[in-house]
Amino acid sequence: MVKLEVPTVQLTSDQQSFRNEVRAFLREEIQSRHFTPTCDSWLSGESSTFSKKLGDKGWIGMTWPQVYGGSEKSAIDRYILTEELLVAGAPVAAHWFADRQTGPLLLKYGTENQKKTFLPQITKGECFFAIGLSEPNAGSDLAAIKTRAVRTDGGWLLTGSKIWSSGAHIAHYMVVLCRTSPEDEENRHDGMSQLIVDLHVNGVTIRPITFLTGEHHFNEVFFENVFVPDEQVVGQVGNGWKQGMAELAYERSGPERILSTYPLFSGVIDELKRINDREGLTEMLSLLPELWSIRNLSIGVAKYLDEGKDVSFIASLVKDRGTTFETKVAETVRLVLSKHPDLLNSKSIGELYTQSILHGPGFTLRGGTTEILRGIIAKGVVSE
Ligand SMILES: Cc1cc2nc3c(=O)[nH]c(=O)nc-3n(C[C@H](O)[C@H](O)[C@H](O)COP(=O)(O)OP(=O)(O)OC[C@H]3O[C@@H](n4cnc5c(N)ncnc54)[C@H](O)[C@@H]3O)c2cc1C
Repeated sequence: MVKLEVPTVQLTSDQQSFRNEVRAFLREEIQSRHFTPTCDSWLSGESSTFSKKLGDKGWIGMTWPQVYGGSEKSAIDRYILTEELLVAGAPVAAHWFADRQTGPLLLKYGTENQKKTFLPQITKGECFFAIGLSEPNAGSDLAAIKTRAVRTDGGWLLTGSKIWSSGAHIAHYMVVLCRTSPEDEENRHDGMSQLIVDLHVNGVTIRPITFLTGEHHFNEVFFENVFVPDEQVVGQVGNGWKQGMAELAYERSGPERILSTYPLFSGVIDELKRINDREGLTEMLSLLPELWSIRNLSIGVAKYLDEGKDVSFIASLVKDRGTTFETKVAETVRLVLSKHPDLLNSKSIGELYTQSILHGPGFTLRGGTTEILRGIIAKGVVSE
């Protein structure tokens, strides 16, 4: 029998107080109309002003060492913060990737100079990163990437393109996975490196890809002989695959894989309570046990990450179950709405529902598709 062990997490009274502090801040921001809650706000809610506010509060990079601008809080504190931000539908997309994965990547593999240069700017909410993994013919099969860097005096010349690059149009830098040696059929994962690329230098072109909603969130990014100095190589040349894979646990296990449609979930429940629709409420609340179980799995992974444990298998499980849940919320609301179309008279419900439906197809694709994750889970189970 397979044993899935994840620690249970009891919040301390300080952590409960912190949650209340974050809630009070977000309530005030919404009441002052500084932002309107949206679904999928971690991907599409971009506000550099809001990111700066979080930076001023010490709420970006909050687990990182103080010497690099962090607050040295635990991963559970960060979990509480991110959970509340997503529940409120706050516009956190601008700094999300830098906070979630570029920072931890640099802390693990970066040079002292890279840590001192980038981390304090990230924690202030003034420096944003995009993720440069996928290419037109390399998504699930990431080892097929063709973007390459060749050696030149003092650095590398980068040529190729990336696709689906979320937020690249507002980011300052991108961590680009590229080939620094030709592909070897026997060892396809060898010979890749990670470069920090300034997105505002000569040779970089960013073109929008319009989302189903008509909004601009992701991009194609082209590199034509872009000079990247040696100081901007992350970790070891040739070790990019291993380093990149280590980021995925951070990318796949957090509350953003569960709560993208939460503002819709809670908004519909509030409306159903207001009109005293018990049948609709029963349907919506039947989702709660699933939400609670996945959330406890996810916060358990945060604790494991804090302890430096390898969580790639459980992180894949969280992402698979979590993104399936996000989609199920929109589907359940659709069924409830078919009996109560008048709920759509509420402007906010109408907007949140539209966002959930139109963003939905991406939930199970981005960050690793369901089929790929289930392959990882199956291998994890077999090797137990
Ligand atoms: C909203 C959104 C934001 C994104 N943001 C970023 C970003 O910021 N940076 C970035 O680098 N990428 C980003 N991506 C890209 C994302 O990582 C890829 O879409 C994903 O990895 C799948 O790759 P693909 O699109 O090439 O699909 P493919 O790999 O071509 O897959 C197509 C289908 O085939 C299935 N499939 C493929 N291989 C197998 C297999 N071996 N076994 C079974 N089934 C298989 C897949 O599950 C999928 O259903 C984003 C994507 C979305 C939707």
